[in-house]
Amino acid sequence: MLKPVLKKVLHLEDPVGSIKGIGPKKSEALRESGFETVFDLLRIYPNKYQDRRTAIEIKDLKADTQALIKVRLESIKSAYVRRGLTVISAVFYDRDGKINIKWFNKTYLLKQLKLHNEYWLYGNTVAFKNSLTISNPEIEPVSDNNTGTKDRLTAVYSSNASLSRAAISPLSLRKIIDGILDNTDLASSLPEELRNTTYSGIFKSFEEIHRPTTLEALNKAKHTIAFFDQVLFQMGVLKRRENLTGYLTLPDKNQYEPYESPYPLPFELTGAQKKALGEIIGDMLPEADKPPMNRLVQGDVGSGKTLVAFLAMLKFIFVLRPGAQCAFMAPTEILANQHLIAFKKFFPQFASKAVILTGSLKTKERRLINDLIETGAALVVFGTHALFQEQLKFNELGLCIIDEQQRFGVNHRRMLFNKGSDPHQLLLSATPIPRTLSLTIFGDMDTSIIDEMPPGRQPVKTYTAKSFDEVAPKVGEVLENGGQVYVVCPLIEASDERDWTSVEESAQRIAGHFPDKNIACLTGQQSWEEKDLIMHSFKSGEIDIVIATTVVEVGVDNPNATLIVIENADCFGLSQLHQLRGRVGRGSKQSECILISRQKSESERLKILVSTNDGFELSTEDLKMRGPGDLIGTRQSGLSHPCFSHKIPLKLIENARKRAFEILTKESDTIKNWFCAQMIKSFGGSYTTFMEGG
Ligand code: ADP
Ligand code: MG
Repeated sequence: MLKPVLKKVLHLEDPVGSIKGIGPKKSEALRESGFETVFDLLRIYPNKYQDRRTAIEIKDLKADTQALIKVRLESIKSAYVRRGLTVISAVFYDRDGKINIKWFNKTYLLKQLKLHNEYWLYGNTVAFKNSLTISNPEIEPVSDNNTGTKDRLTAVYSSNASLSRAAISPLSLRKIIDGILDNTDLASSLPEELRNTTYSGIFKSFEEIHRPTTLEALNKAKHTIAFFDQVLFQMGVLKRRENLTGYLTLPDKNQYEPYESPYPLPFELTGAQKKALGEIIGDMLPEADKPPMNRLVQGDVGSGKTLVAFLAMLKFIFVLRPGAQCAFMAPTEILANQHLIAFKKFFPQFASKAVILTGSLKTKERRLINDLIETGAALVVFGTHALFQEQLKFNELGLCIIDEQQRFGVNHRRMLFNKGSDPHQLLLSATPIPRTLSLTIFGDMDTSIIDEMPPGRQPVKTYTAKSFDEVAPKVGEVLENGGQVYVVCPLIEASDERDWTSVEESAQRIAGHFPDKNIACLTGQQSWEEKDLIMHSFKSGEIDIVIATTVVEVGVDNPNATLIVIENADCFGLSQLHQLRGRVGRGSKQSECILISRQKSESERLKILVSTNDGFELSTEDLKMRGPGDLIGTRQSGLSHPCFSHKIPLKLIENARKRAFEILTKESDTIKNWFCAQMIKSFGGSYTTFMEGG
């Protein structure tokens, strides 16, 4: 049968309603889900392909394989087994074979399937009573495949909520997309200037990804589309950078010399610390037309980020911009206070210039400190959320440092930055993330990586145990040798809902084991003074065991604590466990981390933790298991971008970023505008939040 030659009547920017088979109801539902134009539908990518050129006959089926057969229906019947279970049994045949197929509850098939019509069946083969069957196969009428005369590599789409809302099944989506490709004039949908450039390959790729001609061409198309999507995302990232800093520049372009501390320190800085410092200080060098610093420092727990931040502050307030102030914001009062103490210890000569502002200050003290900040007498201001919530004015805020940045929302950071005029921004993160992800989600920032631990650190020995009683001897041994111990529990008090160990329970048990030791509990319920007192006593050695919730997760530093026991380790995330483990191993003594898990089989997560101490390696694994959303905390709004639907090699991202920069800075307005329009669309509803830094 000859296919009628159709006039190409559709354009990519036409509304979905102009597509055959999409009436007002469907198009309304699609629009509500963000699919407005013909092109939007082409951007729904198949999740797999069936190679219909390699369909086999029933007689050639093998057990336990994925099989595709082309068969006719001989008979079909249904049997009601019990409430909620109806079995549909059908017999199909081909040239010289027969096969029995069963489906559960798909009663609509009785109506849909027609005797002796031809169908594709696809699924896993299983042996059943001496013969082979395909279990619960996907089924599709052969006649529906109206795209060509030959069997081909056929796109299979997965269903999703938006499509279901519009009552479009994966099968009808294929038909719709076929219709689009048959009827759309792809070439003339591009601006004229783009048609004869390499960019015109984009649309050919969209045709190829939905209706592949060969596997090779399909792979090439996938690559092109992944690149296209990544270019769009990187354009967004560069725009966001421009929004934040006022300059359109490529991140990480400058090379700076490592920096040596001009102050005597109790130890030598690591190479990675010096390099990061060089980059940070380089960013802050006053030069005409230079954007303020917008840098993220990523370094594993214990890699020494705090000191790097201190040295950067001192250089800034004493050398680069004398008289300017610096704010150092941390997520908890314990941590903010610990930073102040460390600062005074390292730099006693500047102790008088440093203050701390936290929510728990008494009104009188707070007024005093506010004054010091407002007059500029305080140059280094440590603090918590109080730093931005206060009616606080800085005399001249020039540098904002945010510790454990993943703990703060964008708005928090912005509120602090807004207290200065274009202050430099330095974010510290103890969740190292794979470079591919860092280039995307943090792609608007310059990044320094501290990938070296201070010398003498021994990796924390990590292992699992089934109960606390099992590890009690170990705890005793550490205490006898003068060490201190953390015990972390998921709950504060026992709960009816979960049989996890609580801090209360654990404290009782431990008191039973070690009646002559000093034990303290640390939870978020306590007042700041209480927590502070406990941490101080722990650091000074008066307390032997701290039993805590995850409040000890960030930053707390006591090098004499050499053992951490984590109860119900299964209920914490991988990165979180790694952070908790980072509470020990902070000095030169061998430290240990024991993960208690009462589950019969050890979880993948715990196995990974046991196998490595490297935060980058862990986050790569975490990324594989949980996807990017959990890893990056607050910066989530861009994650629905189509670039995340592709597996992305690093090189591709780097090239895409360069191309994005070229498009924004070198291409003609027509080309730039076309790409910008595509870029905005590609972010869908999250564009505005993304641009604001969310
Ligand atoms: P994090 O990167 O997790 O914030 P910290 O800044 O808290 O790590 O540093 C952890 C510990 O290592 C602190 O006690 C700090 O004083 C110490 N430290 C930092 N830099 C060095 C170094 N170069 N050599 C030895 N110890 C260091
Ligand atoms: Mg830290």
